[in-house]
Amino acid sequence: MNEETRTEVDSLGEFALIDHLTKNNETRNAGTILSVGDDAAVIDHFGKQTVVTTDMLVEGIHFDLAYTPLRHLGYKSVVVNLSDVYAMNAVPQQLTMSIAFSNRFSVEALAELYEGVYAACRYYDVDLVGGDTTSSQKGLIISVTALGEVAPGNFVTRSGAKKGDLICVSGDLGSAFLGLTLLEREKKIWMETQGVQPDFENQKYIVQRILKPEARKDIIGFFAEKNIKPTAMLDVSDGLSSDLLHICEKSGCGSVIYEEKIPINEDARQFAYKLELDPTACALSGGEDYELLFTIAQTEYEAVSQHPDISIIGYITEPEKGNKLITKGGSAHDLIAQGWNPINVKG
Ligand code: ADP
Ligand code: MG
Repeated sequence: MNEETRTEVDSLGEFALIDHLTKNNETRNAGTILSVGDDAAVIDHFGKQTVVTTDMLVEGIHFDLAYTPLRHLGYKSVVVNLSDVYAMNAVPQQLTMSIAFSNRFSVEALAELYEGVYAACRYYDVDLVGGDTTSSQKGLIISVTALGEVAPGNFVTRSGAKKGDLICVSGDLGSAFLGLTLLEREKKIWMETQGVQPDFENQKYIVQRILKPEARKDIIGFFAEKNIKPTAMLDVSDGLSSDLLHICEKSGCGSVIYEEKIPINEDARQFAYKLELDPTACALSGGEDYELLFTIAQTEYEAVSQHPDISIIGYITEPEKGNKLITKGGSAHDLIAQGWNPINVKG
């Protein structure tokens, strides 16, 4: 935020602010018939089915502005919603963005938030078609709703995994949690010893994973290209164990995953060791990775195993077998949804 020019929102008023934030808004998708500026947007999905998802981000609960640039926050607030759309095997098309903010936020600060929103809209090819703008007594609250389209019946739920299916995950896991741990550590040091500059130890990858995550648009594109339809899918927002348990619970099945197959970035692994954390535990319980966790029939093995950024980490079993993690040492442990919340909720 540029502290030198600070325009109070009150000096503009709500309508001029909305106008200011949306004046350069572009429309990219043919289905966006009517966008910002009327009582409602009009959308045509041309015979496709529509998926809708919404997420709310609250300052002090989901993000901390002490180390989160507003531009990144705008980007991330869009990405976390698009990730849910992709997790349905759908292609995001439109979104609405609602904000509530206290008088701590200037017009310039909100414009910076929107720069991030527009950057995500450009990258993911979605249209911002509306929202709401209001004040709050304290802090910033962001609510995004995303709409996506999918060929009729082609959406993928959490409930279709079958015995024998392979369990796959995109990218790597645990990095976002480690990035958050680093940012929280530096914030604490900075607060206790005023003036000491944060030391991010050149940990670009893990910091980027928490501040500016990406949604796996490419994986959905790969499924379409190869004609693959996962049997079940979700995006990893709470950590591998609790998200895999969601699939197994909804699908009425059990699972086996192998510790050695869980993808972990090498920088993240080394940083975990440095903090005396178990990298596998970070992947299992960390959360906020926004990777896709999905199951496929064994007949799709060939196609999926050739993808450089998809790991096959285990398989689906009958429900009586429970959910097991086979460690590198070969012992079997029950997978549990750890209540290890990576977000530092302020008391
Ligand atoms: P109404 O009173 O009918 O709800 P508003 O004045 O709230 O209308 O909004 C006017 C237009 O601006 C609508 O199209 C609305 O969707 C859009 N809009 C309002 N706030 C935002 C925002 N923060 N971001 C994007 N669009 C917004
Ligand atoms: Mg309104």
